[in-house]
Amino acid sequence: MKLPRQIEIIEVCPRDGFQNIDQFIETEDKIEIVKNLIDTGFRRIEITSFVSPKYVPQMRDAIEVCKAVRNYISGRGVNLIALIPNRRGFETAITSGVDEINYVVSVSEWHNMKNVGRTTEESMEDFKRIATDKGSKKLRISLATTFGCPFGDEIKSERLMELAISSLEYGADEILLADTFGLANPVLVERILSALLKKIDADKLCLHMHDTCGGGLANILTAMQYGIFKFESASGGLGGCPFAPGASGNIPTEDLLYMINGMGIKTGIDFNRLINVVFLISKRVNTPITSHLWAMSECLRH
Ligand code: ZN
Repeated sequence: MKLPRQIEIIEVCPRDGFQNIDQFIETEDKIEIVKNLIDTGFRRIEITSFVSPKYVPQMRDAIEVCKAVRNYISGRGVNLIALIPNRRGFETAITSGVDEINYVVSVSEWHNMKNVGRTTEESMEDFKRIATDKGSKKLRISLATTFGCPFGDEIKSERLMELAISSLEYGADEILLADTFGLANPVLVERILSALLKKIDADKLCLHMHDTCGGGLANILTAMQYGIFKFESASGGLGGCPFAPGASGNIPTEDLLYMINGMGIKTGIDFNRLINVVFLISKRVNTPITSHLWAMSECLRH
């Protein structure tokens, strides 16, 4: 089996994991969780999103969280990431002290309309303008619903390719292929990656897979065999999109790390510390932990 010697795991629990939780998580708890996650060894972490507090009230303290964590990571080589859906989010992100901006657009017209209230084309036009103003920030683009959308339109591979190529031409530094609804399977991952990799280098791609149907780790294993080495996951398996009904959490970081460690692939993340952070999340956040490891986590805790 052809596998990378090292992969990068980008932690997204503080953004994707928290955004869907109704009960407001206290700002100081969010900050404590993010700091603890950073101490496990993550070098890139998505800590919040700059979205309308009317639609996603959980993220209303985005600026405060950024400021507090910014001071904590000073000089430690950690990149903070924030998600934005539009120009307004971009303006705030620029002044908030994050290092990377993650712009979201859906391949599915239906989902883009639900998620950001405009057509995919309108979102791409906005992205093009943002890319010219990004300055020193690293700009990523999340192609949501890359692997399918159970509502509305079918995802066409030509359309996906077109959006990916345009993103790079406009100035994206990295493309996230997001399985927003968790519908992918290894054959679909293979089909999409083999097409994209004909035109795009593997180091420009990162996978963001939800685990709705339980295929998450199998999909990552397939992607690694295609040379992909950047993956997003969320501690505790938290996550879901407020505008993706039925979609469950991300791949739990602890499950992913357990598999990756067992395969002898390096990540730079401390497994025992991570388990302790999942315990911290379970205490501070009013939502179930859904990882496979959670059932035996008492035994793993140090
Ligand atoms: Zn997600």
